[in-house]
Amino acid sequence: MPGDGAGTDLAERIPAALPSSVHEILRALWAAGHAAYVVGGALRDVAAGRPSGDWDLATAALPEDTAALFDPAVYENTFGTVVVRRDGRDHEITTFRTDHDYADFRRPHRVEFGTSVEADLARRDFTMNALAWGAEPAQGGSAGLIDPFGGLADINERVIRAVGEPRARFEEDALRIVRAIRFAAQLGWMIESATLEAIHATAPLVVHLSGERIAAELGRILAVDHPFMGLRLLADTGVLAAISADLAAQRGVAQRKVAGEDLWDHTVRTVDAAANRPTVRLAALVHDIGKPATAADGHFYGHEVVGAELADRLLDRLHLSASERQAVVHLVRQHMFRYAPEWGDGAVRRFLAKVGPRAIDDLFALREADNEGSGLPRDADNLDGLRARVAAELASGPILDRSALAIDGADLMADLGLTQGPELGRILGLLFERVVDDPRLNTRERLLEIARDLGRRAGPASGSDRRQ
Ligand code: ATP
Ligand code: MG
Repeated sequence: MPGDGAGTDLAERIPAALPSSVHEILRALWAAGHAAYVVGGALRDVAAGRPSGDWDLATAALPEDTAALFDPAVYENTFGTVVVRRDGRDHEITTFRTDHDYADFRRPHRVEFGTSVEADLARRDFTMNALAWGAEPAQGGSAGLIDPFGGLADINERVIRAVGEPRARFEEDALRIVRAIRFAAQLGWMIESATLEAIHATAPLVVHLSGERIAAELGRILAVDHPFMGLRLLADTGVLAAISADLAAQRGVAQRKVAGEDLWDHTVRTVDAAANRPTVRLAALVHDIGKPATAADGHFYGHEVVGAELADRLLDRLHLSASERQAVVHLVRQHMFRYAPEWGDGAVRRFLAKVGPRAIDDLFALREADNEGSGLPRDADNLDGLRARVAAELASGPILDRSALAIDGADLMADLGLTQGPELGRILGLLFERVVDDPRLNTRERLLEIARDLGRRAGPASGSDRRQ
């Protein structure tokens, strides 16, 4: 039996796979007479032969008793978790728990400390995450694997299966719905059919989750090499609609791109083709979010403007940091640029100034992905030509914003007798445009000359008079 073989194999592999810090912590707890186990994702990763990140431990010892055994230990009261730092790594030691009465689809009403490892495993989300390896010193036991829900067999079959009755477990905590899809995306495993059916049934509960929790899982789905499968699952199960109705509305919207594929297919292809950087992947996901709302006669006029607005709203709800949100929204807003080799150098510099040097690589990465997602070569629309010209401009240290002008507002006030106000800003803006067109103008003398000329043309009646 493959399961049995792997079981024996795993029981042997676990002790060898545990870092010495984990052995040290387990031994200390056992020596003090406490049941203690390695639990959760790390065992799954060992069993699946994948590199494992964090090592979580569960024990019958109460937090204060655990904390007393380790020095230095940090006691986190809110979660009843003791964090022990060893060999540059944090080890989270949690007292066995049992959960009760989930009422709002988000978190247990009451978490109680428990005394049995089986009860602790029963509250965990998926069978693959509900394994424990350790010992119960009170019963004189030697260390072994505890697998009450057939997690090992599921790991061997590469199946994601809810612990207990799937629908009830998703109703208790809707984050598990998104976690199931995230694990499927990360591991490339199948979601077992009853579990998948329950995800379909409970998907609308995802709207109750906080933006941060959704964003964390979505970010992990987007960060896998090929997010294709995860995105398909999100859409097919109805979870996408609970995260973003605007993205879900892309399904069934016709596109003149890849034959037989709709707008959502294009989005999925684009994300899959995008460089694996969080900003670029997120921008790829939302780059056409404005299309369903602007669809008319096979065109989507202004979709990047509407899309920037909708993306901003979505990312705000997902509680992304302001800088990340602005970076993504900017890419959505700018992604429709149309380059032609006839552009003069001034046009290239204006494009660069508008996009900004920090966003330019991400914008090119987004366009490459968008091209591929449209069934075109990655460098379609002369993308490589534009990239080379932008690189040449950047190498020459171009003027990219007003702060690089050879004069500033103070000079204008001193020289032209202007006062602080819109006229000053207007003249600086015009000077900036002239310098972007012709960088040789960026000397103090030339700019003051041009400014004087602009000031004369506006006349003494600048400001309110002129507007009448
Ligand atoms: P990874 O850290 O690689 O994402 P993991 O399985 O370690 O995977 P964590 O979020 O670190 O995931 O959670 C640790 C363990 O806690 C899980 O393996 C699982 O047993 C349990 N767990 C986490 N979140 C939930 C949840 N929402 N419901 C039930 N159990 C959970
Ligand atoms: Mg973990």
